[in-house]
Amino acid sequence: MAYTDSRDLYISFLKKHLSKERFLHTLAVEKEAISLAERYNVDIEKASLAGLLHDCAKGFSDEELVRLAISYNIPLSVWDLSYPQILHAPVGSIFAREYFGIKDRDILGAIWKHTTGDREMSTLDKIIFIADYIEYHRDFPGVSYLREIVKKDIDRAILFAINLTIGYIMRNNQMIHPKTVEVWNYLIKEGRGFLDEVNS
Ligand code: FE
Ligand code: FE
Repeated sequence: MAYTDSRDLYISFLKKHLSKERFLHTLAVEKEAISLAERYNVDIEKASLAGLLHDCAKGFSDEELVRLAISYNIPLSVWDLSYPQILHAPVGSIFAREYFGIKDRDILGAIWKHTTGDREMSTLDKIIFIADYIEYHRDFPGVSYLREIVKKDIDRAILFAINLTIGYIMRNNQMIHPKTVEVWNYLIKEGRGFLDEVNS
């Protein structure tokens, strides 16, 4: 089936299962991902698909997410069971494979990693992570800076985004996903820190 035909199927699924805001967010992430893919010489179609499907499991209830995660053999931590919505990323990745027949590992990996990031991220992974963060509906202190630096250095943008996330979570007295802490520590230790600029 041609990509444009499949795209119509994805769109109708997303329209049906996501809230209107989430659906519009999805289209905006796809748009941003395509523009970053052009900038960073990444396959446009992969960026488009990963962007479009990154939140495909976001409409599922906590119970459905846990049930699907178990049926997909996704390892569940205590943290995941306390905040099942985080599972929309790994569940969405396998759901995209099982339900939509997406076989491309780059696309599935980008969907899997889009919420917490990962120690090792491909350029496509980074693009989806950042596109999710800066799509044009997003409005928070630091987003303009992120939109600027991502044009020059996507690694710095990732680090700055995680810095903002952790800061936000702490200010709101929420729990930080262990994976987020792991990724932050790894990137800082790897010397991809740009700490001076992040803090300025
Ligand atoms: Fe998401
Ligand atoms: Fe999203």
